[in-house]
Amino acid sequence: MGIFELFKKRDSGEAQQAALESGLGKSREGIFGRLSRAVAGKSRVDEEVLDELEEILITADVGVETTVRIIERIEARVARDKYLGTAELDTILREEVAALLAEAPAAESSSELGMLFEKDASGNPFVLMVVGVNGVGKTTTIGKLAARLTAAGKRVFLGAADTFRAAAIDQLEVWAERSGARLVKQQMGADPASVAFDTLSAARAAGADVAIIDTAGRLHNKINLMNELAKIRNVMQKVVPGAPHEVMLVVDGSTGQNAFEQAKQFSAATQISSLAVTKLDGTAKGGVVIGISDQFRIPVRYIGVGEGVDDLQVFDRARFVAALFGEGR
Ligand code: GDP
Ligand code: GDP
Ligand code: MG
Repeated sequence: MGIFELFKKRDSGEAQQAALESGLGKSREGIFGRLSRAVAGKSRVDEEVLDELEEILITADVGVETTVRIIERIEARVARDKYLGTAELDTILREEVAALLAEAPAAESSSELGMLFEKDASGNPFVLMVVGVNGVGKTTTIGKLAARLTAAGKRVFLGAADTFRAAAIDQLEVWAERSGARLVKQQMGADPASVAFDTLSAARAAGADVAIIDTAGRLHNKINLMNELAKIRNVMQKVVPGAPHEVMLVVDGSTGQNAFEQAKQFSAATQISSLAVTKLDGTAKGGVVIGISDQFRIPVRYIGVGEGVDDLQVFDRARFVAALFGEGR
């Protein structure tokens, strides 16, 4: 099966839902297994059940603030409807989380690619800079995205601006070959801003649609991070005014609260326009996406549900809630 057919198959709602449901299986079982024990022998949703639910959501890495918001919603509903029984609790939970997420900023993704990825009025490429700490899945996410973009007919350039390790450059090169994107690189240890400059120049000269810049996460402190990212931005603007059009922070969902922390730190160091949450396959911490979408005024655009080329999904709140709080128990 070619990549294009693979995506067509994978993009069918059912296949994506199935991949998501199986990835979130552990998180779902964690939540509902404990929930059914909490309500065993009880018919009414009382204070004790709500306390238990609060603890379950916090354990599922939803985060304290968001958990409190969910519990408040459920409390309000219990107060309105005195006859709410424990049998309805999972439905109520699903509905209230969906309603809460509906208030979070959306990735205005009319596009099945999650973003428009279109050239500007002067024919300059759309520039995406990808940031995040080492090991979260930046390069893999870029590779998966590049494959989707080329499959959709876009011409894509990848810039290996993580020059810290030779292996990082090689890894991006493998993804470029696999996806049919062009790679721009320099030797290990080169200035990342210089690689970004080369990438944008080459992409522009070739009339490419998209340039994606991979960066290194290995930074000693916030000042370092700010300086390096600011330098890359400045250099990019010399080639493509307005670049980068999007700065995507990648966080590893399986690290739960660490992913929260990283989102906090990076958004303090630089302007982040979107998030990708990876490694949601097989983790029990899938609830972190709920907290992240609720608390950061930054849309989650993509989620990673595996290491393979087709394991990147455009984040769909309704689909996510259905997979996490669905009836698959
Ligand atoms: P980077 O340092 O941020 O560029 O991270 P990499 O892209 O090199 O990824 C680090 C590791 O995480 C690699 O082994 C990837 O295969 C793995 N990885 C990335 N995304 C996912 C995902 O969604 N699910 C799983 N299970 N592994 C992932
Ligand atoms: P250490 O001695 O292992 O802490 O490494 P250094 O901090 O001395 O850095 C070694 C090389 O890697 C130097 O050429 C740095 O410019 C480069 N380097 C260090 N940190 C980063 C980083 O976060 N990003 C990039 N791209 N290069 C870095
Ligand atoms: Mg990398």
